[in-house]
Amino acid sequence: MTATLRDVVAALETAYPPALAESWDAVGLVCGNPDEPVQRVLIAVDPVAETVEEAVEAGAQLLVTHHPLLLRGVHGVPADDPKGALVHRLIRAGAGLFCAHTNADSADPGVSDALAVALGVTVTGPLAPRPVEALDTLAVAVPVRDVDRVLDALAESGAGRVGAYSHAAWTAQGTGQFLPLPGAHPVAGRVGELARFAETRIEMVLPRHRRRAVLEALHAAHPYQQPAYDLHEQVELLASTGLGRVGELPSVEPLREFTARVARALPSTAWGVRAAGDPNHPIRRVAVCGGAGDSLLAAACSAGVDAYVTSDLRHHPVSEHLAAGGPALVDVAHWAGEWPWCAQAASVIVDALAGTVDVSVSHSRTDPWTVGAAEFRGGTRGER
Ligand SMILES: [Zn+2]
Repeated sequence: MTATLRDVVAALETAYPPALAESWDAVGLVCGNPDEPVQRVLIAVDPVAETVEEAVEAGAQLLVTHHPLLLRGVHGVPADDPKGALVHRLIRAGAGLFCAHTNADSADPGVSDALAVALGVTVTGPLAPRPVEALDTLAVAVPVRDVDRVLDALAESGAGRVGAYSHAAWTAQGTGQFLPLPGAHPVAGRVGELARFAETRIEMVLPRHRRRAVLEALHAAHPYQQPAYDLHEQVELLASTGLGRVGELPSVEPLREFTARVARALPSTAWGVRAAGDPNHPIRRVAVCGGAGDSLLAAACSAGVDAYVTSDLRHHPVSEHLAAGGPALVDVAHWAGEWPWCAQAASVIVDALAGTVDVSVSHSRTDPWTVGAAEFRGGTRGER
């Protein structure tokens, strides 16, 4: 069996559903023909000249990256533009480019799970869970002969859609009864006589925002003047998807040791790993967020963690966060913190298309910071 680009994209989009991407993001296939065969795939964090060259030299038909190549509005990809040149290079070499960005961040498992696993942190849940779609449950009794018509009408109006399935329903047979009072116009039975009928009870879930449309469809399709139905709001559970992860280390260790653990676990970079907080502060509960995670500083505080590992942190937010009693902060190179995801994405493809695609992870160090110099003269606050 030969896998096509479409097969690889399907595997990746099952693991990292595009619907999980933030509204401003640009994810999915940038270039490549879905009908063409794929034998070799390279996975990297950044779509830059080094990784594009690595993919072409390896004879890959697909480069998968975490960061998008074209995030803002693009009117063309001329070869004399740095990004356009990469698109040309890939297409001429017969290779596609696929990006899984904030959809890979929010997916379960996703980018921050890979980071947590690398650090030896056992994940208990997302740091910022995504809101789960609010659902209602509708239960309605329908005369047996009308079941198919009512069920179809409910399904057409948006009920019974669960994940990749539509028309999902549960039914049970029972007996309904009514006594038509003077002024009633019953479809069956007579005024003043108790009538009993074989009925089917249909239960379906529906997105809460479709409630009005579903009830209108119910009233239109149901043969009774007053259909008997129950409508319940489902309890809203916390999602397993969302940005960042919270978890626990196997045992308590001081911040200085935890920082060394992070440095050992991630690929080395010119700037290395730095931490903010008391070096002796005991660390057990940890939050992590691959990529620039300063927007989740407040979430890390309310999660009650001892340390928060992320990237691209700045002086003032860090200083103010610590002054307010927030958890210790560990700042890693953005590239290094997201690199563990590459192996996760590789296993997604290997698991879905076993034996047909050769998948490898790029070791190009695409962290833009290339020089680090530190001359430590001592001081009161920090240590090396
Ligand atoms: Zn990133």
